[in-house]
Amino acid sequence: MSIKEIKAKSIIRKHKRIDSWFISQYGMNFYRGCEHNCSYCDGRSESYYVEGEFGKDIWVKINAIEVLNKELDPKRKRVPLKPCFMMLGGGVGDSYQPIEKKYKISRKALGLLYKYKLPVSILTKSTLIERDIDLIKKINEKNRAIVSISFSSTNEKISNIFEPNVPSPKKRLDTLKMFKKEGIACGMFLLPTIPFITDKIEIMDKTISDAKDAAIDFIIFGGMTLKEGRQKNYFLKEIRKCYPHLIPDYANIYKRNIWGSPSDEYQKTIHNTFNKLIEKYQIPPRIPPNLFIDILNENDKIIIILEHLDYLLKLKGLDSSYRWAANSISKLDKPISKIKDNLRSLNGVGPKTEKIILEILESGSCKYYEKLLYK
Ligand code: SF4
Repeated sequence: MSIKEIKAKSIIRKHKRIDSWFISQYGMNFYRGCEHNCSYCDGRSESYYVEGEFGKDIWVKINAIEVLNKELDPKRKRVPLKPCFMMLGGGVGDSYQPIEKKYKISRKALGLLYKYKLPVSILTKSTLIERDIDLIKKINEKNRAIVSISFSSTNEKISNIFEPNVPSPKKRLDTLKMFKKEGIACGMFLLPTIPFITDKIEIMDKTISDAKDAAIDFIIFGGMTLKEGRQKNYFLKEIRKCYPHLIPDYANIYKRNIWGSPSDEYQKTIHNTFNKLIEKYQIPPRIPPNLFIDILNENDKIIIILEHLDYLLKLKGLDSSYRWAANSISKLDKPISKIKDNLRSLNGVGPKTEKIILEILESGSCKYYEKLLYK
């Protein structure tokens, strides 16, 4: 493995609008490349411009804390940060990959987020996050923290093949249980499920039942993308080695497309399976409102609830226009309550959506949404 120390110009990535998976508009990564080297990792794709051999060459943003401190300091900002979770993780390298033991950048970043009183959401595949429980608890007491761990399944044998340097699923589940015991909200990212391997109903059932045992607060689910080039070639090499009979099935669902998405038909099938299982185990498939409702401003609260509603209906195979409405609201430059007598002028807002928006403005949430979310 080779470590390259680099200087970053900026650390915080600001998204155009709030993200309804993470309830965050700001993300940060301190590493490029990932020692965990999962065979399906899309960070390997050329579209992310990670140089060198993914999994072996790791780029460390050595000045990350200095830059982040400047970016977070309210005295230096003309436009204050919007109230939402600050997201650690995702992207092209796990924030708690083994090299973090030496550099402690994620730990120092948590110290800054605590200092600036910001809510934090962390996504990792590593049990090393346990090291920072003291800081995460302090953040949670003051402003809230969510810890999420990702799994392609909780099957040990399959994980060994596709996630060679990641702590075993059992260890990851134990980490979630430990955080839950300490009063921290926790989620499982069942992402990605590996087609024809971890998307089988018996494997997904066991994984979701393990999540239920860990008493987690939500599960976020997703299939696997396979972008043409490095990512697809690397993954298929692994499949040829361990599951050669599946090659034609992969060719069948992954036709060339820029996102590397599998066919719509395949996606419908796995979402259908997932929906049946979360109904069986009664776990919300999105971060539930009790974890974000008191943090967000009114526009973002409504955007998130409408996007969650759209997803919950899609899971049931139903169409909705809630996403369009959320999109219109994300473009507003004033609080939506200022136009509450004229909501229907917004694209995608009909009588039903108008009623939901007014209910959220009045009570902070929406009964229809909560019924769908908690089944
Ligand atoms: S832990 Fe995440 S970022 Fe790292 S290799 Fe695995 S999928 Fe990629």
